[in-house]
Amino acid sequence: MKAPDFSEYVLWSFKWSYQLISNLSDTIAAIATPSGFGGIGIIRISGCDAVSIAGKIFKPDAYRVRENDRNAFEKPGFSLKARYLYHGHIFNQQRVALDEVLLVYMPAPFSYTKEDVVEIQAHAGAISLKRILELVLYTGARIADPGEFTRRAYMNGRIDLSQAEAVIDLIQAKTEAALRIATRHLDGGIRDATNVIRDHISDIQVCVEAGIDFPEDLDEIMNRKKICHDIFQEILNPLEEILEGYRRGHLIREGLRIVILGRANVGKSSLLNRLVKKERALVTAFAGTTRDCIEEAVDVFGLPVVIVDTAGLRDTDDPVEKLGMDRTRDVAENADLIVFMMNADSGIVLEDSEIYGRIKNKKKILVFNKIDLLEDAADISIPETWDFFKVIYTSAKFGTGIEALKKEIYNFGTDSGNAPTGEAIPNLRQKRLFEKCHEAMRRCLKGFKEKLPSELIAIDLQEAVASLDEITGTAVKTDVLDAIFSRFCIGK
Ligand code: GDP
Repeated sequence: MKAPDFSEYVLWSFKWSYQLISNLSDTIAAIATPSGFGGIGIIRISGCDAVSIAGKIFKPDAYRVRENDRNAFEKPGFSLKARYLYHGHIFNQQRVALDEVLLVYMPAPFSYTKEDVVEIQAHAGAISLKRILELVLYTGARIADPGEFTRRAYMNGRIDLSQAEAVIDLIQAKTEAALRIATRHLDGGIRDATNVIRDHISDIQVCVEAGIDFPEDLDEIMNRKKICHDIFQEILNPLEEILEGYRRGHLIREGLRIVILGRANVGKSSLLNRLVKKERALVTAFAGTTRDCIEEAVDVFGLPVVIVDTAGLRDTDDPVEKLGMDRTRDVAENADLIVFMMNADSGIVLEDSEIYGRIKNKKKILVFNKIDLLEDAADISIPETWDFFKVIYTSAKFGTGIEALKKEIYNFGTDSGNAPTGEAIPNLRQKRLFEKCHEAMRRCLKGFKEKLPSELIAIDLQEAVASLDEITGTAVKTDVLDAIFSRFCIGK
């Protein structure tokens, strides 16, 4: 016997109320390509009037379309051939050609939104695309909200909510690694992991519901030992793996945070400029030039890295510089890795040791800079008590050792302890829901062990399932959807 599953009903009623609010039945349109100059720009139209709007504004070129088709095009109700690339012109109400375009029609349900979709590939350029869009709107479409095409794909059941979120990650991916995760999630990585866990919880729900209906046969229906084992093995363990994936995944999403630290004038700003390959930080021969922290995002062999150049750490009476030092302490505390820079020329001095004392518990790479001023780097002695990941010798001025440093940064970021594995690397919203599910299932496990009444255990099971359904979007509130889709750009 399968436990009554209300998720279908919940989804149906939720979608119905969404349609009431935002009217899925109208036709939406937007410019789907980024603004600015480019070869082509695409206007996307989705909804039941997409074809009739196309028929009113688009005329295929005579020499490209057989006579019959051309005549038929003029008639109302002419059906565009699916996935056929038409070449022609867009005409306004005064029969003036606005642009030479290509047009393609993707019929429901085989389109991005699962609705009739027409895409017009026009010449890019803000004014020309805007004019065509205005004509499309005048002819019967409404301008799409940000992310509304993807929202429709979700509402019409083509993708689940975790896949919709992956679309944003894919668009915003700045590195290969972030792109790989987004693609995996777009293929249903999160959905599949969630559904496997959900199925196991549903099986337990069946037993518990039966126990509520037939309490006298409880011991026969319920093998508590096996259920506890399953909760542990099939539910809690995979959930913990997913949550661990979040911890590691933040390196990919937000980037490895590296802070360059060292006393004034050792070459921190010069190193930052080398790593970002531009003159970002001001470099001068005077101590204390960088008074605030400077942040730059760089791609180190595909690994996203945020590098922070700091104000250095030293005692100063200058109130502005003092503020800079406070901020340095803050950012150092939140760093994943510290690049601790010292002067190769002078070797380790007292001030360096003091700085080391402040960061001794952080993971760090020691960098001895200005080796161009030194005959032999082997002369530098490092106290035996110092703990560090690697030592690199550089000349930020001449670019020596920069590649070696980048390699070590990459090695640190992709070290098995830091690199995300697994199929499902949740985002913050999903992580909180997985945590909620984990808590509910731990209570449930305790409930089974302590032989609590089935009615109480059933409440925890329902909460666990509800959390998972919110991840895939089977049951999720409109304001949550609004928050998710507002992160999209218009046209996606
Ligand atoms: P910060 O105060 O630690 O940020 O140091 P800067 O990057 O502003 O550099 C201070 C001074 O050291 C500048 O005059 C730089 O040109 C010089 N400098 C930086 N790196 C090197 C290097 O590798 N070799 C030499 N000879 N001078 C360097």
